[in-house]
Amino acid sequence: MVREHRAFSALTVEDDTELRRSIVTYLEDSGFIVYEASNCREGIDLFRRQQPDIVFTDLNMPQGHGHDLIHAIRRESPHTPIVVVSGTGVVDEAVEAMRQGAWDYITKPVRDLSVLDTVSRRLIERSRQRKYSSVAVDGAPVPKRNRIPFCAPFFGDQAHGSVELETNLRYALERKEFALAYQPQIDVVTGRVTGVETLLRWQRNNGTLLMPSDFIPVLEASGLIIPVGEWILRSACSQYVAWRNQGVEPISLSVNISAAQFKSGGLPALVIRIIRETGMDPGRLCLELTENIVMDDIGETIRTLRTLRDLGISLSLDDFGTGYSSLNYLGMMPISELKIDRSFVAALSHDRNNNAVLVDTIISMAHCMSMRVVAEGVENESQLDHLSSRQCGTAQGFHFSRPLPAEEMFDYLSAYGKPAAPFLNK
Ligand code: C2E
Ligand code: MG
Ligand code: MG
Repeated sequence: MVREHRAFSALTVEDDTELRRSIVTYLEDSGFIVYEASNCREGIDLFRRQQPDIVFTDLNMPQGHGHDLIHAIRRESPHTPIVVVSGTGVVDEAVEAMRQGAWDYITKPVRDLSVLDTVSRRLIERSRQRKYSSVAVDGAPVPKRNRIPFCAPFFGDQAHGSVELETNLRYALERKEFALAYQPQIDVVTGRVTGVETLLRWQRNNGTLLMPSDFIPVLEASGLIIPVGEWILRSACSQYVAWRNQGVEPISLSVNISAAQFKSGGLPALVIRIIRETGMDPGRLCLELTENIVMDDIGETIRTLRTLRDLGISLSLDDFGTGYSSLNYLGMMPISELKIDRSFVAALSHDRNNNAVLVDTIISMAHCMSMRVVAEGVENESQLDHLSSRQCGTAQGFHFSRPLPAEEMFDYLSAYGKPAAPFLNK
């Protein structure tokens, strides 16, 4: 039979009978041949017998987790699209499912079943393209590095508007459209550069430059932050080693880590691998996390933070003051730096008294906990004066420099690394 002319087939693995029946009915009405299973084991057996074009699976089911099913199918049939249909409370599991090879993710409740049809046709088409493109002319498989590393998930009907953005982001890594900018951090007493923070930029090949707020939420929601985050960490460490080889003094290198990266479970192993590959000095690497990341799942978080700390890496709490922190837990965490969010620093100029109290309190708190403190978003001399009068050790902001491309940062570091910065010669 000519494959193009037959109906597509789908397997749905779902223990909720009502949802499973509605998926089956909808897909059958759309012209699919549908197989159904109510648990993981049955799902794997049916997959082997029927070899469907696409699989929809729940994650939490009796007789084996959805991850086992994904793993089995991925091993036996790498080109079959697998779509996770699961609740919103299990984002970590969804990210893990994407890492294991699921192609897409639909959140329950599935209000608009037409998403099943749209997603199926799109993914089956993509599966065919991949099948052809992953086999070279001589029949040999295309090397792994030339394949699409990750697939953008689809968050049901909430995300229609961002599908195009997701698609472009997925290719941005391959097309080398991401770039890193670096912003210096300055010792407020000596005026020396103590470190640089790495900031992601997306330079699209149509000429537009996008800032992180335009696309990081989509990277995070889609799980793409995992491969992109790996690229960021590896590129920043390589850049740092290159600067050192060019004679730049040892300073610290800060890299922002997103929630999905931190919770993926693979962060310490990734960091070890990148340190080995690049020759980065772990004692100079600082990972920036936000309060919301570290205040979630405290036990597991402390374990991960300790593993990272034991590698010699320092940990910083970014945007401090904007999230929720329990001081009790904060004291138990091996965090060595607090970064005062720039909204507090900006407000120093407007309403000195109230906001000064906030900033002063954060600085004293950091000192009490023997943490370094960095003020973000310092834009003028009066903010700097206030911060230095309160012994805030380090400042970062447009007053010193905007984030710069690597080559310009090299010039900046060469000029400012040794002598005290001129604006502090008072
Ligand atoms: P962040 O980590 O708190 O980074 C500081 C942000 O403040 C940067 O914005 C920086 O350009 C901006 N900034 C620095 N000094 C000043 C100043 O004096 N005035 C003003 N108005 N802004 C200043 P950017 O680069 O747009 O990044 C925004 C956020 O996006 C970052 O906040 C961070 O949460 C996230 N982000 C950036 N790069 C990465 C990355 O590589 N990975 C991850 N996971 N997140 C990133
Ligand atoms: Mg940061
Ligand atoms: Mg910040």
